[in-house]
Amino acid sequence: MFGALLCLPALAADADLILHNGKVVTVDAAFRVKEAVAWKGGRITAAGTNAEVLKAERGPGTRVVDLGGKTVLPGLIDAHVHALEAGLSEFRASLPVLDSITAIQDYIRAEARSRPKGAWIVVPRTLPPRLKEMRFPTRQDLDVSTDHPVAFDGSYVWGANSLALKMSGITRDTPNPAGGEIVKGPDGEPNGILRNASQLLKGAARAEGFSDEDKVAALEKMLTLYAAAGLTSVGDRAVTPADVAIYEKLKSRRQLPVRVILTWRIDAARPVESVVAEIRASSWTTNQGDDWLRFGTFKVTLDGGQSVGTAYQRMPYGPFGRQLYGQTDPDARGTLFIDPEKLYRIMKAARDKGWQLTAHVQGGSAIDILIDVFQRLDREKPIAPSRSHVMHGSLMSEDALDRMQRMGILVDVQPGWLYFDVPALKRVFGLENMRYFFPLRSYIDRGIVVAGGSDHMIGHDKNGAVNAFNPFFNMWASITRKTREGEVIYPQEKITRQEALKMWTIWAAYLQFGEKTRGSIEAGKFADLVVIDRDYLSCAEDEIRRIEPMATIVNGKVVAGRL
Ligand SMILES: [Zn+2]
Repeated sequence: MFGALLCLPALAADADLILHNGKVVTVDAAFRVKEAVAWKGGRITAAGTNAEVLKAERGPGTRVVDLGGKTVLPGLIDAHVHALEAGLSEFRASLPVLDSITAIQDYIRAEARSRPKGAWIVVPRTLPPRLKEMRFPTRQDLDVSTDHPVAFDGSYVWGANSLALKMSGITRDTPNPAGGEIVKGPDGEPNGILRNASQLLKGAARAEGFSDEDKVAALEKMLTLYAAAGLTSVGDRAVTPADVAIYEKLKSRRQLPVRVILTWRIDAARPVESVVAEIRASSWTTNQGDDWLRFGTFKVTLDGGQSVGTAYQRMPYGPFGRQLYGQTDPDARGTLFIDPEKLYRIMKAARDKGWQLTAHVQGGSAIDILIDVFQRLDREKPIAPSRSHVMHGSLMSEDALDRMQRMGILVDVQPGWLYFDVPALKRVFGLENMRYFFPLRSYIDRGIVVAGGSDHMIGHDKNGAVNAFNPFFNMWASITRKTREGEVIYPQEKITRQEALKMWTIWAAYLQFGEKTRGSIEAGKFADLVVIDRDYLSCAEDEIRRIEPMATIVNGKVVAGRL
């Protein structure tokens, strides 16, 4: 008795840290909210009432932090980022926010002042649907400098000013390159828009020449910024063998700031035999790796993007497509990069190696083709255990939803596009054709697991980036379905705050085969958590997007902010 007063029993818990007097949103199966949480050695040891946790977990070495009523969430998971590409995008210089043709012109004027006449100015990649004017910039728009050749990077489609066309020798008589087009204005002259033809611009390529050391540093910076945004795991959705080497280099030097699940995107633009041979020869497969860095999914890119008018749609881009994307064929439906038979052979080879499967699909027809292939594979052997999924799936349909439900197919969604892209896309397709644009309610009601992702690829600012990776903004977009014009798009597809939080925690973890160790605050799971500055569950709806993390904890360590 006397001894017990002096020293604690040998088996008493001795947590590293206890957070108490808070609102701990556990996201467990019953979505319980608790007051306190404790962890030790990187794992959660208890979540419960203040009294329970302090009594059972507090030892002489325990640090106890009073949260003063603050909310704690499980560490957030962004299932879809491009960390290395985004890290490098502002590695050397910061990027301006280009949200209008006027802003692009200001950028060109500023660049023109700082470089010699005749030197190229390349406007960083910008998506036309996100420009206030909702049209692709033409030669005349870019002629604000006549002393410099100017190129506008709109991904598959580029813009050029008059001097850039002249220096590249592009005239009304220049033949279109194979698969590309020099778009002409009403006068028959090139209007500066080059579809799949940017290779004609002589000297515009930005040879940035990043060394491996640059890449390691840019990657670490980006992962640190993710942690500061409240993320504790991310899915990097398109890595090559060279990218994997950069991740391994960073990891071999120090702990990664957040956990990363890698998606291997194979280059499928070559004979199918060679793609299949590479899959078979590779030593990689799903779930290989450790708790910090592991392989998740095998991916191909099946169609283009809706922001550049190349997603493979069920319907044509129509007349507004000309203004927005410089599309001259009103019947154009976009681009399918892989024919269905080839897709089947590639996916079968990957499935036979044990991979979880996905493909980038945005347009409705591309979605249908991917689901057809999943169905063919499912008939050979049930596909559900592989947790294979549709990536983006922007323009869904009732039929596709039904088939996904039947086979146990998951989805990786980008609800931020409701906010950014619907204003332009509804002018292209008509709002009546966008009934199933990110139909979150329909997915959830069918029991389809929905993982939230940003598809962040350019920029370091969590709100200004393309795409914004602030998880609270993306959850807000899922809940409100508000566009940047303030319109609510198909309110019957709205979801609750609890569901949006699951998309960025337990459901994203499930897609990554990580639901046993991540995605909720429960004893035995990793101590990955985020303390936030207001109450996610009860703050005003429009406040959700403004929530700021105060401390992000990964594996029991504070990696951003302070406790
Ligand atoms: Zn992506």
